[in-house]
Amino acid sequence: MSDPREDEGQPGNFVADRVREDLESGTKGGRVVTRFPPEPNGYLHIGHAKSICLNFGLAALSPEGRCHLRFDDTNPEVESPEYVEAIRRDIQWLGFDWGEHEYYASDYFDQLYAWAEQLVKKGLAYVDSRPLEAIRETRGDFHRPGENSPFRDRSVEENLELLRKMKAGELEEGSAVLRAKIDMQSKDLKLRDPLMYRIKKVTHHRTGDTWSIYPMYDWAHGQSDAIEGVTYSVCSLEFVNHRPLYNWFLKALEIEQPPEQIEFGRLNLSYTVLSKRKLLQLVEEKHVAGWDDPRMPTIAGMRRRGFTPEAIRAFADRIGVSKNDGVVDVGHLEYAIREDLNETSFRKMGVLKPLELEITNWPEGKVYEAELDNIPKNDEAGTRKVPFSGRVFVEQEDFMEDAPKKWWRLAPGKEVRLRGAALVTVNEVVKNDAGEVVKLQCTWDPESEGGNAADGRKVKGTVHWVSADHAVDAEVRLYDRLFAEDDPSDLLESLNPDSLEVLTGCKLEPGIADLPPESRIQLERTGYFVTDARDHVPGEKVVLNRTIPLKDSWAKLAKKMGVRK
Ligand code: ATP
Ligand code: MG
Repeated sequence: MSDPREDEGQPGNFVADRVREDLESGTKGGRVVTRFPPEPNGYLHIGHAKSICLNFGLAALSPEGRCHLRFDDTNPEVESPEYVEAIRRDIQWLGFDWGEHEYYASDYFDQLYAWAEQLVKKGLAYVDSRPLEAIRETRGDFHRPGENSPFRDRSVEENLELLRKMKAGELEEGSAVLRAKIDMQSKDLKLRDPLMYRIKKVTHHRTGDTWSIYPMYDWAHGQSDAIEGVTYSVCSLEFVNHRPLYNWFLKALEIEQPPEQIEFGRLNLSYTVLSKRKLLQLVEEKHVAGWDDPRMPTIAGMRRRGFTPEAIRAFADRIGVSKNDGVVDVGHLEYAIREDLNETSFRKMGVLKPLELEITNWPEGKVYEAELDNIPKNDEAGTRKVPFSGRVFVEQEDFMEDAPKKWWRLAPGKEVRLRGAALVTVNEVVKNDAGEVVKLQCTWDPESEGGNAADGRKVKGTVHWVSADHAVDAEVRLYDRLFAEDDPSDLLESLNPDSLEVLTGCKLEPGIADLPPESRIQLERTGYFVTDARDHVPGEKVVLNRTIPLKDSWAKLAKKMGVRK
């Protein structure tokens, strides 16, 4: 695929432009405080990565700028410390540091409650003693105004008494809520006396059983921003219609220097699901092996797949930030990881589906050390020595018995280069009773050590190989896109049945066996791989995950079938 940087009409970063303007004009006192506010109810995904890069990037625009990590932990029944830990780990791995600024909305429960009493005393909030269905029914809709609750005009004293009872756990779940008293006729549905607190007798992973009431998102979010002195509360577009309410609360509480909400278009990716609810479903129904399954678009999954933080950050940078939602071609993400790994990953040789090749004129017991580049075109990366002997494995698909004219790989009578080692010609194809090729016999040119002919004749084809006596056995997991449809809204129907193929008995260059987990390599001519974080044990068991093939086979396939990619 083409370099996406050459695409025209790329979005820039209008939020950064705004912050730069403010810094220049001194609005907001030259302060830049942003926050990333995940709810700990799932793992972070590539969409969150976009938001993380944006928020930490804005903070970096000023030397004193900072980005807070705030856990929006207001729904105890779906949240857990496991998710908190995973979120911290993933942001750190991406390369961002929130320093001492780690906060939890639950840290503010006391302050939020005190503010709620304040609004009650000002006549700006009341306890509605009806069930939620009744409240919902009388809210009206886009065409129909809402109706006032019969409890809307309770006295301040009565409201305070009921709110205190709610807090003390003296009222049943569903029997009362605290609502802001705004306007049931408002055209803005969010302003029709929105809920602030509901009763939930649930244990919270941080506050335990202290609270029987929990704040709603809109009541917690802006106020948390205000407590932390956030200047820019950057969130995705679905919050545009929350903004009037966000501002209403800050005004009602007479917050000085209130935070400002700015919305941007969230990331949607083709062939990818970015909804925590759907990702949770994939995990719970075991369509994947967990949140960090290498096919998942989670940061943990991408990490295990072999992505680098640099590639993810470069991707986020390149797609920019826009004011509307769009779908980004997943090819851009794949391009970013290929580009990074091409420059940084050490080359190794590995044969995924081995076919034995025996050199019949090889001197008995001879072992030759082929010298190969660690990273081509990068002299600093140096070279490595790879043992070569008279019995090697080559890739089954690099041999064809009845080869067409333009086949440059192994075929009877055709001279081919074993990369960096020798020139060989297949003379004999050994088959089993079923007629399958089990071994190739060939001769080599003893004057071709290093892979080039002494007389200077040109040999066009080059294949990779692994010396049979030195090979390391490995399990290789070939991952592909989790979804076969570019729009996988129909979650289970869209799953790609071939998203994982597990190969065993693969033969790899020695040395790979000693690599620690999470080492990224390129298997020459094959693809980018990473030693698995969980199952690869140095010196004992080699397990590689394929990050991505070298070439973009989907683009080719799509082109062949005449479909837009
Ligand atoms: P939900 O609210 O349904 O649990 P969520 O993905 O919005 O899912 P949050 O934990 O609330 O999860 O998200 C934290 C932050 O990440 C929010 O500020 C949100 O705007 C941002 N975010 C989430 N998804 C994306 C996305 N696809 N692109 C950009 N930002 C995103
Ligand atoms: Mg959210």
